[in-house]
Amino acid sequence: MFPLSETFLQTSTLFVELASTEFMRYILAATGLHVLLNSGLRPFALRRRIRSDQPPKGQIRREILTSARSVLVFAGISLAAVWAVKMGWAQVHQDPDTYGWPYFFLSVAILIVGHDTWFYWIHRLLHDKRLYRRWHHLHHRSFKPTPFTAFAFNIGEAALHGLYTPLVILLLPVSYLALFLFSIHMIVRNTIGHCGVELFPSAKSGRPFFDWLTTVTHHDLHHASPDWNFGLYFTFWDRLMGTEHPDYLKHFAATRTSLSSLETVGEKSTARPISKRMGLGAAVMIAACLTSLSADADQSAAELERLSGSWVSEGYGAVVKLHSCNQPPTELCGTLIWIWSPQSQQHLGIKMLWGFRFDGSGWRRGEIAIPGRNQVFRSDIQMIDLDTLQVKGCAVIVCKSQIWRRLDSLPHVGLPR
Ligand SMILES: [Zn+2]
Ligand SMILES: [Zn+2]
Repeated sequence: MFPLSETFLQTSTLFVELASTEFMRYILAATGLHVLLNSGLRPFALRRRIRSDQPPKGQIRREILTSARSVLVFAGISLAAVWAVKMGWAQVHQDPDTYGWPYFFLSVAILIVGHDTWFYWIHRLLHDKRLYRRWHHLHHRSFKPTPFTAFAFNIGEAALHGLYTPLVILLLPVSYLALFLFSIHMIVRNTIGHCGVELFPSAKSGRPFFDWLTTVTHHDLHHASPDWNFGLYFTFWDRLMGTEHPDYLKHFAATRTSLSSLETVGEKSTARPISKRMGLGAAVMIAACLTSLSADADQSAAELERLSGSWVSEGYGAVVKLHSCNQPPTELCGTLIWIWSPQSQQHLGIKMLWGFRFDGSGWRRGEIAIPGRNQVFRSDIQMIDLDTLQVKGCAVIVCKSQIWRRLDSLPHVGLPR
């Protein structure tokens, strides 16, 4: 009995150690980034945020709790990996120089590229409608992801992600240091990918400077439009398989307008020595940011002007007054001013739409509430012509569109303007 109890005690201790290390890594990375973006880097984050609004109340708490559960799943699988190493089935060595330093760096690269491939195909599988609801739905409850979304998985999904490392060490001799660097890279990229602020630099063309890497916009778009962008670290699988969001680069350029303008301004000086270019950097950055921000604000204000007024939803269901909801006017809101259903009259005057921002072609990433239904949908608004709007509402992966008509363009029916 005694040796069995000792084995049980050792196994339990190891499980607790593995789970605490994994959880500390997650919570430190997510909290560190969250605090940084909301304190010291807040002005930077406000300029480069992908979404204007905050995640709903309670989301972060749910994400931390479900991530803690994923960590327990990871720890259970790691325990099996430790056992495989003890049995001699997997080769993990202490000295990173065992096969020479070139092999060490190659092994880290293989771990990362292999993980991206594993993630892409597992992720595609999880979006199959037979698996989605039970295996992946939880991760997509975060329409507006935060760094804490990183491990917010259903149990089955956590198990599939956790299996990667034990499987790869069966095939590839790696050092503990290589595994450690791989895990740090994984949690850093994962939390950054969910942070809602575009941290990746753009090239002069407005495309990502490291176009082969997934940017924050890339994964953020996956949460907004789950049929696209399945990759984790790199863009090549999405491009090879045709699953990159058709407007990804446009969205990226929209979040990085200030830097794109900066680099366009800086283009003339590329022949100068680096030190001189750096000397000019601060002044150019300030001037370009101010210019581009004011250009953005002007464009949003002009578009808001075109859109402002009363609109009738499909089938004369409701009249909604669209207007700006901030100063300077960059964000679109809508107030319900008339509704067909006599049972819904108490909702008159509510704010029915909010949070839409103009991305150069349409009003994106807003939310729409249906009067009388305790539910909010993600929504985009596209102006088809001066008197016609296409209003799209999405719940998880199901989207529906409606045509709204400008009240003034309809035959007079005595509706409030
Ligand atoms: Zn995600
Ligand atoms: Zn997904």
